[in-house]
Amino acid sequence: MSIADNLIQIKRSLPKGVSLVAVSKTKPVSAIIEAYNTGHRLFGENKVQELVEKCNQLPEDIEWHMIGHLQSNKVKFIAPFISMIHSVDSLKLLNEINKEAMKNNRTINCLLQFHIAEESTKYGLNLEEAISVLHSSDFAKMENVNIKGVMGMATFTNDNEQVKKEFSLLREIFVKLKESFFLDNPDFSEISMGMSDDYQIAIQQGSTIVRIGSTIFGVRIKH
Ligand SMILES: *Cc1c(COP(=O)(O)O)cnc(C)c1O
Repeated sequence: MSIADNLIQIKRSLPKGVSLVAVSKTKPVSAIIEAYNTGHRLFGENKVQELVEKCNQLPEDIEWHMIGHLQSNKVKFIAPFISMIHSVDSLKLLNEINKEAMKNNRTINCLLQFHIAEESTKYGLNLEEAISVLHSSDFAKMENVNIKGVMGMATFTNDNEQVKKEFSLLREIFVKLKESFFLDNPDFSEISMGMSDDYQIAIQQGSTIVRIGSTIFGVRIKH
């Protein structure tokens, strides 16, 4: 099956209200163009340099999502064009995003990334840390970031019950934050969870954004 066929088939299978980030990391511009030519516009990358290079070579109407760990000192390179940052895991990073968004005279959509997996290697906040970010006076002053919801990655395991539990936890975190901080803010509405191997479970647990790479573009050499 071709990239276009894979993409079309996955999109057909998604319930209404669930959007698809086509994760094109490590894949060439030609692969992205093939996906683009089906009408798809939403792509995700996890490295700043690769993201900037691809953005420069591809049509302007692509919506780029940053899904990988982001260092504060690199925010400036993506601030002019990024349409969503899924990986906000500190107040320091959020401050930097706000500052660079302001310089570019725009608002940047952000998701708070949570650590829901067993593995210690995955980045992300816990609920307590997120509450402290959202209560901070710094956050109260930010005018150029828009917190759209939460993001998380489940443990890499064949144990579907475990994955289900972790996605369910992320949904509970979303609900708690919604009730405590965003009740009158309809923008806070997104739960980004689910990848090639677990997106069906994620959707059952309330995902609104799935991030799928290898099922569309084929397996990657690790990166
Ligand atoms: C690579 C990546 C994905 C996509 O993974 P696949 O298993 O190829 O679908 C999703 N989310 C993040 C954060 C990633 O780094």
